[in-house]
Amino acid sequence: MHRKEEWLNPIFYAAWGCALKPVPGIDTDILGTFSGEVPRPGDVPTTLRRKVALAADRHPEAEVVVATEGSFGPDPVLGWIPLHEEVLLWAWPRAGAELWVTHRSHDTNFSACSESDWGAVRQWAERVGFPAAHLILRRGDGVVLAKGLRNWTELEGLWREASAAHGAPLLETDMRADRNPRRQEALRELARKTVESMHALCPSCGFPGFVPRPASPGAPCRACGAPTRLPAELRAECRQCHAAQSLASPHQLQGVDPGQCDRCNP
Ligand SMILES: [Zn+2]
Ligand SMILES: [Zn+2]
Repeated sequence: MHRKEEWLNPIFYAAWGCALKPVPGIDTDILGTFSGEVPRPGDVPTTLRRKVALAADRHPEAEVVVATEGSFGPDPVLGWIPLHEEVLLWAWPRAGAELWVTHRSHDTNFSACSESDWGAVRQWAERVGFPAAHLILRRGDGVVLAKGLRNWTELEGLWREASAAHGAPLLETDMRADRNPRRQEALRELARKTVESMHALCPSCGFPGFVPRPASPGAPCRACGAPTRLPAELRAECRQCHAAQSLASPHQLQGVDPGQCDRCNP
């Protein structure tokens, strides 16, 4: 619904000469919306499998069906920084096979503002990249007043009107792909990772997705030697035949910068 293929396709086309075809007429908002009018019925993998099933029902002849899903929230480790996670499911519905690709980034404008002063609101909006990044306006009690705000006159007018009627409203960044340039950049990165993942073949069965990922934390600090939160080990695992390989991470081999050490830089 939000034209994600526009940011994925150039990368797939450059790599393989193929492109995704959007499946029109499927209302994926029934699987939940970012702005919360429709609650999400399941976690990200469940939602992605439902999206794939909706498209595969419509196109039983399709060899491959692809769906993606973004989620935003506080970083589970760092806490105060917002984390954007974008997941892609590349499914071969008739073969019952799946390739999962994840991209995590702190480069997101996921943010909200409840300032009661227009000057402060204006500064926040500039910081999150408005008007290229669109905004959502809510009443203090959460009711959505406007979505997809994309010009200053409209924003200031609606904000002042809502302020006068109900007290300071809440502004949020609109995280839908076609309204958020940082999300578009994350989708490009997700497509690059998909290409990389497709070429990383399991040494036992040849299924793609055999990519080393951070496993156990504890790589040592270069200055004090204490274990850090950065991965000591990378591990690749095949979803198809469960073959696995582990190797020492670059952080383990080269040591971690003391700036990222909780003991040296608490
Ligand atoms: Zn395998
Ligand atoms: Zn240290």
